[in-house]
Amino acid sequence: MASEPRTLGKPAADYEVPYPNLGGRLGAEEMHILGEVISSGDRLSQGQWREKFEHSFRDLIGVRHAFTVTSGTVALEIALGLLDLRPGDEVIATPQTYHASIQPLLSRSVSVRFCDIDSNSLNLDLERLAGLITERTKAIVLVHYGGFPAPMRDIMRLARERGILVLEDCAHALGTEYEGRRPGSIADIGCFSFHSSKAITTLGEGGMITFARDDWADRVARIRGNESDATYRDAPQQFSRVPKALYPGRAYSHDCGTIRHPGTNATMSEPAAAVGLAQLAKLPALGARRRQIARTLDELLGSYDEIRVQELPTGAVSGQHLYTCFVEPGRGLDRDALVETLEGLGVEVWLRYFPLHLLPEWRSRGHRYGECPVAERLWFGSQLNLPCHPAMSDVQVERLLTALQKGIPAARS
Ligand SMILES: *Cc1c(COP(=O)(O)O)cnc(C)c1O
Repeated sequence: MASEPRTLGKPAADYEVPYPNLGGRLGAEEMHILGEVISSGDRLSQGQWREKFEHSFRDLIGVRHAFTVTSGTVALEIALGLLDLRPGDEVIATPQTYHASIQPLLSRSVSVRFCDIDSNSLNLDLERLAGLITERTKAIVLVHYGGFPAPMRDIMRLARERGILVLEDCAHALGTEYEGRRPGSIADIGCFSFHSSKAITTLGEGGMITFARDDWADRVARIRGNESDATYRDAPQQFSRVPKALYPGRAYSHDCGTIRHPGTNATMSEPAAAVGLAQLAKLPALGARRRQIARTLDELLGSYDEIRVQELPTGAVSGQHLYTCFVEPGRGLDRDALVETLEGLGVEVWLRYFPLHLLPEWRSRGHRYGECPVAERLWFGSQLNLPCHPAMSDVQVERLLTALQKGIPAARS
């Protein structure tokens, strides 16, 4: 007997209010479209579903090119390759992001200059950014932390004045709006992730690269699809070692594809792209639910002196990938005590993200504590992330609110 598929995002048993690593919820619509793909008999790669998904994504974001790939990490790798970085170049990056944002820079001989963050948005601090730009600055890599839009107007103005390329990691920012535009269309390149935890998912893993430049479109198409970029015809004199007497015939004049640029195969499969298309249709509802929970939390937490909530600029919309709040120092409430108390009350709390410049791989490149004081101060004693995702039921939201009402006074010293 056919049964309705169990919806992804079922809560983990050990928390009353879990923080599941699940964002885009799959259900009947996705099952239906998968059935269509499979029963079509069409091949499962490089087909119409990828086209459709990319087309809808371009329309939504308002960008000229959108290329699906197999993950957000691969999107970032390919995107950073487009920057044509050379040894000695400097890249300014945020320390407050998931490590994949700048991971590809580890294998390039460029120096990364970590820019401290704004204590409200956790995005790049504009004044610090301006102070870090030098003659060698080639690129800026930023994230829209938790879906909170980075101040792109000022960042792009600075970058344009100095001929610097800007890459926006939009892994949190699908659903975010800033001054009437969508991240992914504002900087030179945008990178999205469709991992299970993100706003929408393409069957667990997936990514997208967005940009306007036509010359980059050719490069990305070749790189992600492992396509040859030239043809080769045998020139007999180059093959003196091939015993031609043994192998006479047509093979010598055959045209072969050759690759002159590094590539990979990062092609998103048709079933994944079809699910992406179905998920995109749900994005407004998924985002609205995230924002609804976030505003409910803001309202409660805003009434506590010891807690600071994020303030969105007017007109901006957050994709609300994360819900972040801050325990204010010196007011008798300790962040870690609060986290422990909430966990004891059945609420799973996460802390995101450990400042990247303090990870061993960056410390071994000369980075150190003290480089980004705001990011450090917030991480070590103030910020926390509460569950806020579309899989939460109304009952769970109520339990979260009750746990906060109980937990905050209980954790006071
Ligand atoms: C999830 C994420 C990525 C990586 O995406 P994957 O699809 O998991 O490879 C990159 N940057 C940020 C900020 C992310 O949250």
